[in-house]
Amino acid sequence: MFKRLVDSGRTDIAITIFEQKKKLGAGMPYSAEGANDEHITNVSGNEIPMLVTALSDWIKSVSKDTLDKFHIDPQRFNEYKVLPRLLFGQYLTAQFDLLQKQARELGIPYKVFYHSQVTDIIDHPDRELVVVEINEEKKFEFDQVIICTGHHWQHQHEGKVPGYFDSPYPPVKLALQLDHPVAIKGSSLTAVDAIRTLSRHNGSFSKDHQGKVSYQLLDHSPNFKLVLHTRNGMLPAVRFHLEDSHLSNDALLSAEEIALHMAANHGFLSLDYIFEKDFKLPIKEKEPEFYAQIKDMGLEEFVAAMMDLRERLDPFQLLQAEYAEAEKSIRRRASIYWKEMLGVLSFALNYPAKHLSAEDMQRLHKTLTPLISIVIAYIPQSSCEELLALHRAGVLDLIPVGDDSHVEALAAGGAIYSYRDENNQEVTQYFKTYVDCVGQPHLSFEDFPFKSLLTSRTVSPAKLKFFSADEGRKAMAEGKDVTQDQHKDYYLKVSGITINDHFQVVDAYGAFNERIYIMAVPYIGGYNPDYSGLDFSEAASAAIVKRLFLQHEPATCP
Ligand SMILES: Cc1cc2nc3c(=O)[nH]c(=O)nc-3n(C[C@H](O)[C@H](O)[C@H](O)COP(=O)(O)OP(=O)(O)OC[C@H]3O[C@@H](n4cnc5c(N)ncnc54)[C@H](O)[C@@H]3O)c2cc1C
Repeated sequence: MFKRLVDSGRTDIAITIFEQKKKLGAGMPYSAEGANDEHITNVSGNEIPMLVTALSDWIKSVSKDTLDKFHIDPQRFNEYKVLPRLLFGQYLTAQFDLLQKQARELGIPYKVFYHSQVTDIIDHPDRELVVVEINEEKKFEFDQVIICTGHHWQHQHEGKVPGYFDSPYPPVKLALQLDHPVAIKGSSLTAVDAIRTLSRHNGSFSKDHQGKVSYQLLDHSPNFKLVLHTRNGMLPAVRFHLEDSHLSNDALLSAEEIALHMAANHGFLSLDYIFEKDFKLPIKEKEPEFYAQIKDMGLEEFVAAMMDLRERLDPFQLLQAEYAEAEKSIRRRASIYWKEMLGVLSFALNYPAKHLSAEDMQRLHKTLTPLISIVIAYIPQSSCEELLALHRAGVLDLIPVGDDSHVEALAAGGAIYSYRDENNQEVTQYFKTYVDCVGQPHLSFEDFPFKSLLTSRTVSPAKLKFFSADEGRKAMAEGKDVTQDQHKDYYLKVSGITINDHFQVVDAYGAFNERIYIMAVPYIGGYNPDYSGLDFSEAASAAIVKRLFLQHEPATCP
């Protein structure tokens, strides 16, 4: 967002940044809050938006000590490599510094307040300004506010129940020697983060002369084990060579095409339409053989076919096979196009998703999202090698637990995991240590942190209209969170707050707010179902800055 404002070159604006920590740029995933030395990004330089300096150039300026610490040879580093998250955080901080320098050179006034937590935001429509409260004490007035508060991990039992962790972050808390099995909920990137930390404190990895990784337990932890629990019993797919950054994919529907389609479809975006146009059609050209297999499949059929393939194979065998496939893709710099397009589809769907009908949003969550979350998690190669080594050493297992599994925290410590096994038998197992690794949850409307915006009804719960009143009635009868308005239309409540296409908050009467924008993903997940990444920040900030400057044309403009 700051880069967008600096790039505008507008000297008639004044920017103020409030950061609760003492550093800009690194945020949660790329600082000690979200990473230790062993944690790596799942994107490489070529997949991230350009800031000021390319990552591969910046690496050359990093001190030898730092590079040695992370085992990086600057001569061999290229834009296709993933890198340690803490090092990436240093890059982002350095880029923020360079952007500040640019702002100074351009004469754009800006201020940064560190150790300044925004504790409330109060909108004053009558005065056309917004008050921002810092550390429950000082108040500042602004014409516009953009909320970029990022990740938030809620604490439920952690700190009260010994051995129970609501998330693996900050990961330093998992630097534990544990001579017993550890239960992990989830099997995707968040679980991989927990695995990378816990495995290092209870054993060690080594590589033979052919590069094969193996794992040995340490003497103090002979009974250490990691037990992953997932609803579908699957591991995520392996990172391969990605051809396009999502934004540069020109095969996608334009905003105008989407608007025309919606106008002809009672104002709704059709999930089937976007699946055909933003997924199947681009594949036709690039991967005709795969297209021939899927051309007659609807969304549900496609997802079932792809899931079936995964369900039939042992997850670790599949991981091994996908590792080999991904290695070939990376060596040849050739994408596995349908998997890349699934990521692109998720990205493309993110922005207009608020225009889906409630029926289509439910289909999205039921069918496409589980496949997307597996395929586009993109486990980096080194994490994949470690997972396979841990499994070979008998230290890593994966248990399918179904939708009705349950975790109960015990006051005395640890948790009981209850689920039905493959033979439909009830299993209850006690674990002394439990880590919830389902990832950043979509937070509800009630969790919104800036309470004055809730009490003044400046923000409202996100909801989606049902295309068919019958379906709405049915969903209401089933006990889903459905409401009916004065026009007798049915709406499904989804997580988070209502926003418009420019990321402006929308009030309880349906009016968007000219002053308040939000791009903090946990609070807008109902309308932005995609897994956020740096490409999201690029797209969201573009939409915001466009609207921001439309409202405030410079005085000198003709
Ligand atoms: C563990 C993890 C790993 C990830 N890895 C990748 C990856 O490899 N590649 C990728 O593309 N995406 C990744 N992501 C996705 C991630 O969402 C984005 O890459 C990016 O970090 C989001 O940036 P953000 O600025 O929105 O949020 P954050 O990084 O969370 O930054 C928010 C900032 O706001 C500050 N803040 C919060 N609340 C307040 C307040 N009330 N007052 C003042 N300041 C406040 C915080 O201190 C922080 O500096 C990862 C996410 C997680 C959780």
